[in-house]
Amino acid sequence: MSDLCQPQCATIDDSVRPRSLDDFIGQDDLRANLRVFLDAARERGKALDHTLFYGNPGLGKTTLAQIMAAELGVNLVCTSGPVLERSGDLAAILTNLGRHDILFVDEIHRMPIAVEEVLYPAMEDFKLDLVIGQGPAARTVKIDLEPFTLAGATTRMGLISSPLRDRFGIVARLEYYSPADLARVVQRTARILDVAITPEGAEEIGRRSRGTPRIANRLLRRVRDFALVHGNGQVTGNEASVALKRMDVDEQGLDQMDRKLLEVLIKHYDGGPVGIKTLAVACSEEVRTIEDIYEPYLIQCGFLKRTPRGRMATARAYTHLKLLLS
Ligand code: ADP
Repeated sequence: MSDLCQPQCATIDDSVRPRSLDDFIGQDDLRANLRVFLDAARERGKALDHTLFYGNPGLGKTTLAQIMAAELGVNLVCTSGPVLERSGDLAAILTNLGRHDILFVDEIHRMPIAVEEVLYPAMEDFKLDLVIGQGPAARTVKIDLEPFTLAGATTRMGLISSPLRDRFGIVARLEYYSPADLARVVQRTARILDVAITPEGAEEIGRRSRGTPRIANRLLRRVRDFALVHGNGQVTGNEASVALKRMDVDEQGLDQMDRKLLEVLIKHYDGGPVGIKTLAVACSEEVRTIEDIYEPYLIQCGFLKRTPRGRMATARAYTHLKLLLS
């Protein structure tokens, strides 16, 4: 297998990843729709329509692609936009796909345009236009591909070109999870990892996980460590609360970096507006990390707003950080 793709998107999260749609918690409307599309594809004996998953990191895009492949009994081949540097890279992967296989392209918005153009005929007609040779001797060869499904994942819908976006038959948006759904994610993971947890313990972690299952799972593992070393191993509401405080995760789920961002905005720039690049330098963080990871949750909670002149802290942020409005 080449470095460009991995057979099953293996990660350390694998043991706790839901394997079927029934096992996937929350996102009820999306799950119900996917169930219909999967059943219809199976019934018609066709490849599932190309599907674009859109949502913040850790909300379940890769998991859903894996579930689609498992439910349809086909192979899943994983790659990502930034590793596909040349059109030949993608052509090599496409020609190796089997009938109805799913090709998962993470961070599809970071795919170079030359590579993206190879995808258009592949998605539309399952054909590949390969240019062989250079200069006047160059010629185009058409290669038939097996019918396949492209599952793209992106955190930035706005960066997907419209020709690419229009070629997806299904666009699935993943929302932040409610605290109650995250408590269920925590309980499910605790069962798999054999961690004793009370309902209050799961609720406490669920509430402080920024609406994100990946974070809920990570916090559960760390809280378990505290419960093991400082308690009797059981994660109660109180244990969880004390452990999360030790890890600098506050009652709203904000961590050190979230608070630093808001504090810099308020203390150095009078609450804004300030440009994202300036904010990134002041916080010693990358613009993309702030835009993809920190900002969406702060906006969702109403601590930060985007204005045409830059980012601004809201009155709610002042109250949360116990700072006075100037
Ligand atoms: P993304 O691809 O959107 O960054 P992933 O699909 O890798 O996110 O999900 C991150 C982790 O969160 C997974 O390993 C999985 O265990 C967990 N997870 C995501 N969505 C759910 C869900 N709906 N129910 C249970 N666990 C989930």
